[in-house]
Amino acid sequence: MKLDVQQVLNWLEKTNEKIQMNKEYLTSLDRAIGDGDHGINMSRGFQEVIDKTSTTTYTSVSDLFKDVAMTLLSKVGGASGPLYGTAFLKMSMIVKNREPIDKKTLEDALESALEGILQRGKANLNDKTLVDVWTPVVDLLKDKEVIKGSELEEVSKNAMESTKERMAKKGRAAYLKERSIGHLDPGSVSSYYLFASLAEVLSE
Ligand code: ADP
Ligand code: MG
Ligand code: MG
Repeated sequence: MKLDVQQVLNWLEKTNEKIQMNKEYLTSLDRAIGDGDHGINMSRGFQEVIDKTSTTTYTSVSDLFKDVAMTLLSKVGGASGPLYGTAFLKMSMIVKNREPIDKKTLEDALESALEGILQRGKANLNDKTLVDVWTPVVDLLKDKEVIKGSELEEVSKNAMESTKERMAKKGRAAYLKERSIGHLDPGSVSSYYLFASLAEVLSE
């Protein structure tokens, strides 16, 4: 597998489409256990990402990821903006001079992104945050010699669904304690859209 600028642009566009299509759904999930703005935050942020990246010429994925990071950091409030922004900033640093991105570089980039998310948000695995989706995705890449889109889709989807039965320990949902059980974590659903979109690009 190889990811170049065009394929990463495609990944971002697919992610944006899923987020825009599910804006109300993400908001309703966040209304149940948060403050009801996750759909608004993500749709605004990713639309800004597309506006910026579709009107800029990139010679490297590293520069492209950096613009994604800066856009999310500056345009998205709440917990999710800084977390996704940090993730893309780490990926930008890792892929520098390692392009087009091969499987090992993607693995290193996503691992570094997860480390950034953990540093910034201080969540642990199973705290019912987007960490619960990013962790098994990174593990999958580490475990497999070859990465298949279908496996990435399946692993991220199962991880997203597994947040439903958990009790939130971080973020706004943690205030609800036991009452957070039985609801999907909104950030895990948006992270699932990100990885399902990457899976589609890898399958093309
Ligand atoms: P806010 O909660 O500030 O309104 P959003 O609604 O946009 O921000 O994002 C909420 C999502 O962010 C949660 O569903 C969760 O996945 C993620 N999140 C919140 N706090 C943390 C944290 N400390 N570490 C990792 N992810 C977190
Ligand atoms: Mg919110
Ligand atoms: Mg908020």
